[in-house]
Amino acid sequence: MRWILLGPPGAGKGTQAALLTKKFNLPHIATGDLLRQAVREQTPLGLEAKSYIDKGELVPDNLVTNLVKDKLSNIDMEKGFILDGFPRNISQAESLDIFLDNNHKPIDAVIYLATEEQTIIQRLSGRRVCQSCEANFHIKNVPPKKEGICDYCGAKLIQRDDDKPQTIKNRIKIYNQKTKDLIEYYNKKNILKQVSGDLESDKVLALLQNFLKTGR
Ligand code: AMP
Repeated sequence: MRWILLGPPGAGKGTQAALLTKKFNLPHIATGDLLRQAVREQTPLGLEAKSYIDKGELVPDNLVTNLVKDKLSNIDMEKGFILDGFPRNISQAESLDIFLDNNHKPIDAVIYLATEEQTIIQRLSGRRVCQSCEANFHIKNVPPKKEGICDYCGAKLIQRDDDKPQTIKNRIKIYNQKTKDLIEYYNKKNILKQVSGDLESDKVLALLQNFLKTGR
């Protein structure tokens, strides 16, 4: 199972990736998480990526593509993986295709979580993340047991800087300008599976498991 999760910010890619990787014991490669970790650790990549992330812009392709290739090179691609938040434009998709073709491990399916703008804004503005383990919560939909505290590790929950209203708008704009083109790109390759990202996460997961079983 070599899957890409595609969709606008707030579509539930991270949530589904976490559920699927737990269920199938697969590596979850989330470029947003990897970049935020690099920012926290102040690595050269993190220092370069920070200003792009803060504005809701895409981090330059070569940085992100090398990061993903590096991660993929260190896992057993035969067993599978889930890519979340990558690729984000055609150029990244082409680089990924070349890398995977060279390794004879093509993508099996691209799951497109089609999501209304209203849902995106509601989800992102209420999202809170654990500053330590990156677990996601939502003030209404998935509240933590104790307000402001992570259920899993007890660290403080924060609002991501790029989940604030002005940056949300820019992230949606960038998605519409650049990432949306990938729907057609993968549709042409006959590997696109569309699922509604407006549904609750357990319903989306059930649809994905059914797709895995039946191919439909
Ligand atoms: P995410 O957590 O996937 O919403 O990503 C957060 C931010 O990280 C994005 O708004 C971008 O600034 C950056 N980012 C994540 N993935 C990519 C990517 N594939 N290409 C460029 N920038 C990315």
